[in-house]
Amino acid sequence: MTDVYQRLANYLDDLPAGFPPTETGVELRILKRLFSQQEAQIAPGLTMMPEPVAAIAQRLGRDEAELAPMLEEMSKKGLIFRSTKGGEKHYMAAQFVIGIWEYHLNDLDEGLIRDVNEYLPHLTKTRWIKQETKQLRVVPISQSINAEMSVMPYEMAEEIIKKQSKIVVSPCICRREHEMVGKGCDKLKEACLIFGTGAYYYEENGLGRSITQDEALVILNSGLEAGLVLQPGNAQKPSNICLCCGCCCQILKNLKILDRPAQVVHANYYAEVTMEDCTACEACVDRCQMDAIEVEDTARVDPDRCIGCGLCVTECPEDAMTLKQKDGADQYVPPKNTFETYLRMARERGKI
Ligand code: SF4
Ligand code: SF4
Ligand code: SF4
Repeated sequence: MTDVYQRLANYLDDLPAGFPPTETGVELRILKRLFSQQEAQIAPGLTMMPEPVAAIAQRLGRDEAELAPMLEEMSKKGLIFRSTKGGEKHYMAAQFVIGIWEYHLNDLDEGLIRDVNEYLPHLTKTRWIKQETKQLRVVPISQSINAEMSVMPYEMAEEIIKKQSKIVVSPCICRREHEMVGKGCDKLKEACLIFGTGAYYYEENGLGRSITQDEALVILNSGLEAGLVLQPGNAQKPSNICLCCGCCCQILKNLKILDRPAQVVHANYYAEVTMEDCTACEACVDRCQMDAIEVEDTARVDPDRCIGCGLCVTECPEDAMTLKQKDGADQYVPPKNTFETYLRMARERGKI
């Protein structure tokens, strides 16, 4: 008989973002830390569609009244996702990343952090990088965009924020977990903006606080001052915007070790230096979270490393660094919404 944790791991790996096995079995260690035996048995009964308890109980052949408090408890522990529709609770599967890991923001410990840091490079290498459709993309900071560019509203963080009726800001789990093991940075602590249904879940689970659009714009601005990369969810109507640093962010950190990170990031821009204007002052170098800039006689941007975040542009005192838009054929158009993103990911992996 397959072990419940192995069955849970297989199930999580079948979800769009995956949960690939390792030779060391660290992924099973992580699941044992997070799920009780009973929870590990129940979780694989959920799908990527929100469903009321009755539908889940019927599929699992379980008693609805007995299952309801278990699902509620699991959703509070960040093992599955919960939403409310027409006053009725609905539950659905949570992926490991982005999902279960992030939902454990408030109950991290050194053992879990160690195991997850052993595991995430493997997940990035075997799933995130190989997956054609990613969960996040990069958009440029608005101050780096010039008037001649035709920028889509979904590429502008301010426009995305102004469309939201419910926003929660959450502490950045990447910075928190690094700080807990003495490897943190001094960048913004509250750096994850969550929208819509996810925002209610975060708020109800004590993972963040509700803020207004104006407050979100202030946080966005603080993120830009701190030199953070804007990574919205990979959808025209994203469910989040992350403000990320290259030192702690589990995505950027693991992409940064590649020779050509630009090839595995959804981005429509790149930076370019006007050599005649560059004084080789190096102000742009530290600003780049992807180590894409080298300065000798003048600055040079490595196109294979530049993810078009625009952070270097605003730092250049000579206006020598500018952002360019990729050609039409190379322009990335994100899926319409998060549901479509996951559908694409599942199709690409042959899971549907
Ligand atoms: S993805 Fe970015 S903002 Fe989100 S938790 Fe990680 S570093 Fe923080
Ligand atoms: S060179 Fe670095 S800072 Fe500038 S746009 Fe590219 S990735 Fe961003
Ligand atoms: S900040 Fe501007 S002037 Fe200074 S090295 Fe970079 S591109 Fe050149």
